[in-house]
Parts: sequence; C-alpha cells; structure tokens
Amino acid sequence: MQLFEKLIEYPEAERLVLENAPKTPVVKLPLFEALGLLLAEDLVANFDSPPFDNSAVDGYAVRAGDTGENVELEVVDEAPAGRPSTKTVGSGEAIKIFTGGVIPDGADAVIMVEDTSGWSGEGSSVITIGKAVPEENNVRRGGEDVRAGQTILEAGVGIGPYETALAASQGYSRLPVHRRPKVVVLSTGTELVEPGSRELSPGEIFDSNSYAIVAQAREAGAEAVRLYAASDEYDVTRAALEEALSDADVVVTSGGVSVGERDLVKAAIEELGVEQVFWGVKFKPGKPLFFGSRGDSRFFGLPGNPVSAMVCFELFVRPALMKMMNRTDHRRPKVRVYFEEDFTNRFGRMHAVRVSLKRTEKGLLATSVGAQGSGLITSLTKADAIAIIGPEAHIKAGEMVEAVVLRDF
Ligand code: AMP
Ligand code: MG
Repeated sequence: MQLFEKLIEYPEAERLVLENAPKTPVVKLPLFEALGLLLAEDLVANFDSPPFDNSAVDGYAVRAGDTGENVELEVVDEAPAGRPSTKTVGSGEAIKIFTGGVIPDGADAVIMVEDTSGWSGEGSSVITIGKAVPEENNVRRGGEDVRAGQTILEAGVGIGPYETALAASQGYSRLPVHRRPKVVVLSTGTELVEPGSRELSPGEIFDSNSYAIVAQAREAGAEAVRLYAASDEYDVTRAALEEALSDADVVVTSGGVSVGERDLVKAAIEELGVEQVFWGVKFKPGKPLFFGSRGDSRFFGLPGNPVSAMVCFELFVRPALMKMMNRTDHRRPKVRVYFEEDFTNRFGRMHAVRVSLKRTEKGLLATSVGAQGSGLITSLTKADAIAIIGPEAHIKAGEMVEAVVLRDF
C-alpha cells in the first residue's frame, strides 16, 4: 500500500492539468460534425455572395423608368429561381420573376406581384402596373452580403448554426477544427453491476460513474465512450486500462485510485507507462485524484465516490478537454456568492460545497444543498453551483466567496 507522497493545492492541480492539455490535431470535419467546435483557421469567401443580382420578391423584372400607375407591360419570359431568363427586358416589357431569380439583362427593378394586376397566366401576357417603382427596387445585388476574398469567419470563432450557414453558402462542406478529444471511460470495482442487466446482490451497486463521466465529457464537447466496469483484480484492471489507453486522447477511470489495498489503478497505469504528474490534491471531495500522461494521451484517475468523481471531472477534466479543443472559455463561469450564515471549512483543504443560488438585493445567495457526503448523488442534482471554500477558511455571513456555476438558476 502506497500513501500519498505529497498532496498539492487545488490551484496548483488545476494549473498542472491545463498546462498538460495538448491541443488535438486540426482536421477538416463535415459541417455537422464541426458544430460546437472552434474554427481553427480563418475562412475566406471564394466568391461574391449572393453570386448574382436577384429578386427579393415574386413579381416582374422591369425597367424602373417604364413604371407608373396603370401602365401596361408585356411579359416576355419567366425567370424562376435556378432558371435564369436569357431574354432582355426591353422598353414596355417585363419578365415574370420569383424570389431568388436572376435579374434579367435590361431590368433594373422588380415590382412585386401585389402591386400589379393581371398576373400573367397561360394565354395572357400583359400586366398592369399599379405604381411607379425606383431603380434597385427589390433587387438584391450580387456581393451585397460577402465579397470574394473577404475573411468571413475568423479562426477561434465557435461554429454554430449561423456560422454553418455562412460556410455552406460559400460551398464549404468541411471546416478545419481541433477535433474532439477521444475519451475512454472505465469504472473499476468488483461491486459494480451494469444498470439494467440484473438485480443487485448484497454488497453490489450499479455503475453510475461511467455514465456520469461519459455524459459530462460529451456535454463538454468531447467524444466519449464507456469501456466495461473492471473488477478489482490486478490483471483485469491492467488489461482494461491497456485497452482504454490504446486509442484515447484521454482516459478517465473511476475508483481504485486511493490508498486502499484494492486500489490497483495506479500500479497498473504506471506499469503501462503512464507518468504521474500528480497524485493527491488538497481538495474535498477528491483527495485521491491522479493525473498523468503517456505520449499525447492524458490519464485522469478519479475517485470512486460518485460526487468526488463528478466534481473532479467538473473542475479538472472538463477544462482540460475544452482546452484540448482550443476553447478559451474552458472554465465554467465563476460568480461571487455569499452565505446567510457563517460557514467554516474544518477540513484543512479546499472544499467544493454544492449550493443552490438565489438572486437577492445583496447579490447571489448560496445555500448548501444539505448533506455534502461524497456518495450523495442528489447533492449534485440539486446544486446550481459549487462554492469553493478554503482551505481552513472561516467565511462570515454575507462575506463573498467564489462559486463555479453548473447550470442556469
Ligand atoms: P473507491 O474509490 O474505488 O474506493 O470507491 C469509493 C466509493 O465509490 C465506494 O463506495 C464505491 O462503491 C463507490 N464507487 C466506485 N465506483 C463507482 C461507480 N462506477 N459507480 C458508483 N459508485 C462507485
Ligand atoms: Mg473501488
């Protein structure tokens, strides 16, 4: 049994994790797969957009100078979207046009169908104009949105629906991004049973951590899969870890990383060539957190207690994953909060207190969600934020402390 050599402080642990979070390679991903990621290079317009002068409405392409109340024009052709007319609009003529249709030669304005009568159907080719319209009326000019050669999206911008639209409008089907890190999640513990597989026997529990961690990793934008839950036998743990490490940017395990006799993860990963960056943080819940690296892969050994695992993920793994995708907003938003009563941290290490938040005249009021045990999953389903207290802090009622916001409140 090995004891923690040296516990480090929470800010130091956070710094070491972020320092050791290498960016994933830039790849060109199909638009939908790039959604939610950051553009890795400037995107330049290939051509003017819209690519041609076109009509903003359904109506008639005309010469503005011909228009006026009760003027009759002869309709000489049609220009629906996608099928330009090859004819020219001459004096006294019009071409029936639809939204997006190419403005024909000779025309300098479009009069909307509502301002005409005698909508030219089969047989009829004469319409009556209701009013005069100026040049450019209802004409969308080519290049009015984007000019060829212009940077339309800058490197670092988040790719959302609107950015996707702009890229697609310029013919891009793929975008360069730092790809999502591949996360492989592995639970350890002989007591663990796959949810839904069977009833629990005495002493068993369902494996919730690997589901939580995959969900958290996906929410952070990573690609995450679960491996199975490995029993607490050295060979099983080692084989599972070897599999996890074989094709992952980040391996996240839960359990088996403390100093108990059955805590085999650390021994196994060291044998597999993972080098320790740190093991043990002055942080509650999550003291046995392990962080290491092997080549470009990173390894997080989270404690088994569900709250410890999820809180450690929030505060250490999530920022790392986001930084790997080059996100600058890799930290959750922090706010200043106060408690209504004095709050003492007696643990001698940073305490992540799960709280609900309420807006008051004095600012954000934090209220502990109740018992803070590291096995109490409901403490997280009730929490809006994690207040960071400590170490050895005595917080007075009304005094401001920092909290990491988990959700809208
Ligand atoms: P460990 O860190 O392995 O000593 O586990 C600490 C506590 O967390 C024990 O009560 C475990 O049963 C529990 N635990 C470990 N892994 C999981 C898991 N995947 N899902 C839910 N609880 C777990
Ligand atoms: Mg265990």
